[in-house]
Amino acid sequence: MRFDFYNTEDGIHFPEIGLWLDSKQSASDEEIVFVSHAHYDHISKHKNVVLSIPTSRLMKVRSKSKRKEHKLEFFKKTNFKFKDKEFSMTLLPAGHILGSAMLLIEVGGSSILYSGDFKLHSHYASEKCVPRKAEFLIMETTFGKPEYKFPPIKEVSEQIIAFCKTTLSEKFTPVLLAYSLGKSQDLLSMLAKENLPILVHTQIHKLTQIYREFGYKFPNYEMFSRRKMKGRVVIYPPSAANIDELFSVKPIKMAAVTGWAIDKNARLKVDAAFPLSDHSDFYELIDFVRAVNPKKIFTTHGFATEFAATLHSFGFEAQPLEKTGQKWLPLNGWKG
Ligand SMILES: [Zn+2]
Repeated sequence: MRFDFYNTEDGIHFPEIGLWLDSKQSASDEEIVFVSHAHYDHISKHKNVVLSIPTSRLMKVRSKSKRKEHKLEFFKKTNFKFKDKEFSMTLLPAGHILGSAMLLIEVGGSSILYSGDFKLHSHYASEKCVPRKAEFLIMETTFGKPEYKFPPIKEVSEQIIAFCKTTLSEKFTPVLLAYSLGKSQDLLSMLAKENLPILVHTQIHKLTQIYREFGYKFPNYEMFSRRKMKGRVVIYPPSAANIDELFSVKPIKMAAVTGWAIDKNARLKVDAAFPLSDHSDFYELIDFVRAVNPKKIFTTHGFATEFAATLHSFGFEAQPLEKTGQKWLPLNGWKG
């Protein structure tokens, strides 16, 4: 039996088993879409999805469209059938944000692991990433160059706490710019022991409630309002609609909290930047490949070409899975 998969502008597609991975467009009703996690660049109006239980809960807040959901528990192998083809899917924690999952597909005697966004070494508010051996690996390589080496998380945490305390002592308001889902909850966990007064944007407030439902503990915080800013630490999403208005409030000091802070060429236009990431750095990507130990690797996102070349130099068979603009680009299939 032979299966091919295709990388399209809409996502990765396995037509023989009717499966899409993190597709951005609606798939046909009888096909199924794996949603690796609830970040906006991975969700769309799909009719039929497979996802983790926390991702399903987060999706209720983020996407109102109706859909049939196959909610899978982590590590539980579940059988599926598409036309006459049988296959199984197992979700493994990806360590990226709450509920983020990798997908292990087993079909015709072959195994394929799809990483989605993942962080190998655990950070604060997420399940711990658990890789598993597979014959083929499709992986994200956002930070796939050796210069992307994140400092130890404890070090970054100490720097962020020091920034907040110093800024407050100077009578400025520290504003930490961080994604509302994932990074903000990491920051809250990080600040937990410091007993600092914290304000969060309404979206962060809403999403953090869901983390609480799944047993995560956070320090006290209040909903953001301009008049409460003085003397408090503010956590705010960089994409918020009124961010320019916030910039005009004085006196504040802004800090970006992003993996890209490690990049000296990144122009973040802020007072400080801290490299806290929920993605794997280059060295975690390498460790991950070694843990999965696949026969062949397909790389996608970020430095896919560079990382595939690195893997090649280490003796792995690797190929970047780049979109070409061509709708259907067949790549190497596998025989089972
Ligand atoms: Zn993500």
